[in-house]
Amino acid sequence: MAKNKISLLWKISIGFIFGIIFGFLIGPVVPNTPILNNYVMPFIDLIGKIFLRLLMMLIVPLVFSSLVAGAASVGDIHKLGRIGIKTLALYLITTAVAIVIGLAFGNIIQPGVGMNIPAGLQANAREAKPFLDVILDIFPTNPIASMVNANMLQIIIFALFFGIACIMAGERGKKISEFFENVAEVMYSVTHMVMSFAPYGVFALISITAAKFGVSILAPFAKVILGVFLGCIIHALIIYSGMVVLFCKKSPLWFFKGIQEAAITSFVTRSSSGTLPVTLANVRENLGVSEGVSSFVLPLGATINMDGTALYQGVCALFVAQAFNIPLTLEMQIGIVATATLASIGTAGVPGAGLIMLTMVLTSVGLPIEGIALVAGIDVILDAARTCLNVTGDTAVCAVVAVSEGEILKS
Ligand code: ASP
Repeated sequence: MAKNKISLLWKISIGFIFGIIFGFLIGPVVPNTPILNNYVMPFIDLIGKIFLRLLMMLIVPLVFSSLVAGAASVGDIHKLGRIGIKTLALYLITTAVAIVIGLAFGNIIQPGVGMNIPAGLQANAREAKPFLDVILDIFPTNPIASMVNANMLQIIIFALFFGIACIMAGERGKKISEFFENVAEVMYSVTHMVMSFAPYGVFALISITAAKFGVSILAPFAKVILGVFLGCIIHALIIYSGMVVLFCKKSPLWFFKGIQEAAITSFVTRSSSGTLPVTLANVRENLGVSEGVSSFVLPLGATINMDGTALYQGVCALFVAQAFNIPLTLEMQIGIVATATLASIGTAGVPGAGLIMLTMVLTSVGLPIEGIALVAGIDVILDAARTCLNVTGDTAVCAVVAVSEGEILKS
């Protein structure tokens, strides 16, 4: 089993590296080579899309069953509340720190200085939802509809009620929670089946992206890409490693190795929600976090904890300000920390959602939303990095909460 797992991780990593090389090499010749353009690339694209769909297929049954089983297995409503408060506090703090790091990189690297913005640039971003509506949307009116629409926060709320009610309903409730425990177990097996397809899916997704974004297209945006990538790496290396060392008393290597599959999957799928089944499996099997903690902390994190998105919004706000030659005062930057924290909470764990929420951040400090159009061209690249940090952040908080509750099992 352990041998199999190592080889799967290797296969995924090889798929990732070969995908990048293949995409960069083949990208420039695709438009002039009909066989590549009409057959090979669409086929590779299909493989990537099937992998994405298989991951999405897992989410609702996996999250609901494991959260009901998890809430019931915690067994104590007060403990559940305590886990909730710790999780939310850690999510908020790490997100705020991420934006500060993003702003710092934006100030140091100055990604937008000297940009030549074409006149009459049009933004085609959609409007972000008002924040109060985001809060109202957490509460389901019809839990079945929430599941049909894969509305994660609504599923979490209903599953928590349901799981807690299983504790309160005594013997009968126990039977129900045992049923969901079995469903969750079966869903983990389905996850493993899907993950055996991951090396091919990862190869396909990353090679299509690399082929589309040849190295030369990226050059004018090199600084903003550098700012977001470096910011994400520094945040992971300092903040998450620090949390793991300080609170879990483990080496960062143990942590990063344990969640590597989830990190690569999130990078190529650009979806925290889509990666959730892999994240749950990694945290349980490699870090040894209990079902009670992981099934609550991770789905919540995939929905509201977006450190990478927040950091990206910090860098991009400065990028837009510099590109449009608008000076950003310290007060304005503090305003960005507040709005970007809220905006990242409201960002859905799907590809490109952070770009939509960037409108909220830009308007809140009076920056032109036309800046969205500047970032949109390279958003896929930035999305890969920020989603990877989003997912890594969820796992770091999950490990810390688990240790604080004595619910981490492996050494
Ligand atoms: N794609 C990101 C995620 O799924 C959200 C974003 O676009 O910032 O975590």
